[in-house]
Formats: sequence, structure tokens, C-alpha cells
Amino acid sequence: MSPGINDAVRAAMRPSAADLEPYDPAFLPASINLSANENGYGMPDDVQAHVEAALAKVVANRYPQPLSDALRSELAAWHGVDPDQVMVGNGGDELLFNLLLAFGGRDHALVNLPPTFSMYRLYAQLLETAVVDVPRDPDSFAVDVDALVTAARAASLVIVTSPNNPTGDLFPIGDTRRLCEACPGIVLLDEAYVEFAPEGSTAAPLLPEFENLAILHTLSKAFCLAGARIGYVLGSPSVVSALATVRQPYSVNVLSQAAALEVVRDRMSFSATIEEIEAERERLAGGLRQLVGLGVRVWPSAANFLLVRVPGAHEVHRQLRDERSILVRDFSATPGLDGCLRMTVGTPQENDAVLSALAEILKGGSR
Ligand code: PMP
Repeated sequence: MSPGINDAVRAAMRPSAADLEPYDPAFLPASINLSANENGYGMPDDVQAHVEAALAKVVANRYPQPLSDALRSELAAWHGVDPDQVMVGNGGDELLFNLLLAFGGRDHALVNLPPTFSMYRLYAQLLETAVVDVPRDPDSFAVDVDALVTAARAASLVIVTSPNNPTGDLFPIGDTRRLCEACPGIVLLDEAYVEFAPEGSTAAPLLPEFENLAILHTLSKAFCLAGARIGYVLGSPSVVSALATVRQPYSVNVLSQAAALEVVRDRMSFSATIEEIEAERERLAGGLRQLVGLGVRVWPSAANFLLVRVPGAHEVHRQLRDERSILVRDFSATPGLDGCLRMTVGTPQENDAVLSALAEILKGGSR
């Protein structure tokens, strides 16, 4: 039960919301914030200058374009689809909510692959949608594709995260094909982190083949716009129209549309930092593997974060936060993620700091 709601207010609430906990991103001020998978390298200077110039010209006394027309066209050209195959949202989160609004509800089922991004389940519960879990392998986190395909046959929505948050693994395109063939409903590939994965990891080549495939992207991760809240779905015109039916018309404000347009036009300027983050991910993973003698395990990742299992994870998280001002994400209380922390790949200095702090804490060292 969420704190701070009195009985009368709770009694008036939508029943499916009354027992839910509000989402807690567990943000606290910290010198090194590796908790939310943002791009800590910041925007390249040329892009920053273009964004600032565009923001200076924004006219805010008129409502925004409801469907972010200019941005949508730019995104469509980038991904080689028609503009009516793109839906822009106030962050990927809004689009996920709208997907559940459009394709969830009573007598509808979401197929979910835990452990994964917690918002899918939360939105499904809120919108009275049954959640059918197909759990990942407890050791490797691999998806049981046969079980998934079987569950998908009765689903109105399947969400597969690739790379998955927080486990970092990719879902192969061949399996996406099987899924789209089997599922009478919508198959959403959440590719929020795909820019950090090897070339060819996206399911986009399947879009012309399957009307029930949709792909979620965000500008919050690789493209440094977490604060502006811009995500987008690529899909068939039918799926995009279904999302248009349920959305709030002006959810994407003029400032965010203008900033995102510049970022998308300048997307190639991000390649260098994306490559650096990928290289740092491998260096950080190598450093963590050196701590195997202290009981550390790290999983391979195609995203901008690593999942790590450490002895006494909850206490390690606390010490990192309270004694070193380093914030990582504590997943140790999440089913299937016993002892696990997730750390965003930071700058080389941040990664060095987290590696040495972790080694000291695990050796029982004090400062
Ligand atoms: N999908 C996944 C897998 C995520 O991890 C996130 C952000 N944590 C999102 C979608 C939503 O991102 P945003 O709302 O910032 O676009």
C-alpha cells in the first residue's frame, strides 16, 4: 500500500490503482550517478549549440503540433519508414502506457519476460490487464522462446526488451519473427538501448513484413535527452493509429519537440560517445571480472549498463551511496535478481571510481 493516502481517498480510487506503489526511481543527489542509464558524457558541443539556437526560436503561446509532425518526418526518414508509421511520445514511458491503454484492459493479456523493466507490469495492473509471465532462465536470463511463443498465441500484447533492462541481453531477430507469426496481438520490441548494441541488432528489418510488430525507441539514453522526455514507436499505420486514439493530444511540448528535432538531425555527432561508452562497458566489465575472487559476477551486456551480483548487495549499495556518493541501482529485492546491482557505464573516471570503491567495500576496507 502506498503511504500517505488516507482511507477515504483510497476508497475513492480506481480499484486497480488503490493497492499499487508509486514508482520510486530511488534518486538521491550523488557525486557519481550511475543509477538511471542516462548518457553521462553529455551532449556534443555542436549539438548543444543547435539545440540552444532552436529553443531560442520556440513560440510557446500556441499549442504544439499534436503528432510532432516535423520530428516525426525526420524520424521516419532516419528509419526508412513513412511518417504515419511513427508515433512520438512524452518519453518511452508514455508510449508504453498508451500501448497498455490501447491493447490492454479486461479480457486482454500482456506477456511479460521477468526480470525486466518494471513499468510494463505496473501499467498492465493499473489498466486491469492480465500479466502472463514467462520467466527468464534464473542463471543466464535467456528467454524460453518456446514458452514465449506458446503464451503469445493468447496475448493482445507481448513486450520483449532488447537489450533487456536490467540483464543486458539481446533478443534474436529470428525469434522476433517466430513471435510475430504466432501472436494475434501486438509484439512490442522495446529497443530503448539498441544504439549501444552491435550493428544489426534492431528488429526494424521485420517492420515491412509484420503489421503487428512495433518498436520502441527513446532519445533518453544514447541521445542525451532524458530530461526532455522524447520516445517514439515505429510500427504499421494501424498500430500508430491505435496509439493516436488513446493519447492525450498535446503531451509532447514545443520545447521538447524543437530540441529533439535538432538531436535527430545531428544524430551522427553522438557516434563517438556511443562508441566510447561501448568500450568503457567492456573495460568496466573486465574490471568487475577481476573481482571474481571477492564473489563478484557480471553478465555480458549490449546496453549502457552492467548487471552485477555481489555479496551483501543491499549493504554494498548503501555504502557506495552514503560513504562514497556513488549511486547505482539496487535490484537485490527484485524477484530473480538476488544480490544484483545495476550500474550505468559512466565516464572513465566514474568507472574507475566505482571499481575501486567496490573492491574496497568488498574487502571490508574503510576510508
Ligand atoms: N524502456 C526501457 C527498457 C527503459 O529502461 C526505459 C527507461 N528506463 C524506458 C523504456 C523509458 O525511457 P524514457 O521514458 O526515458 O523514454
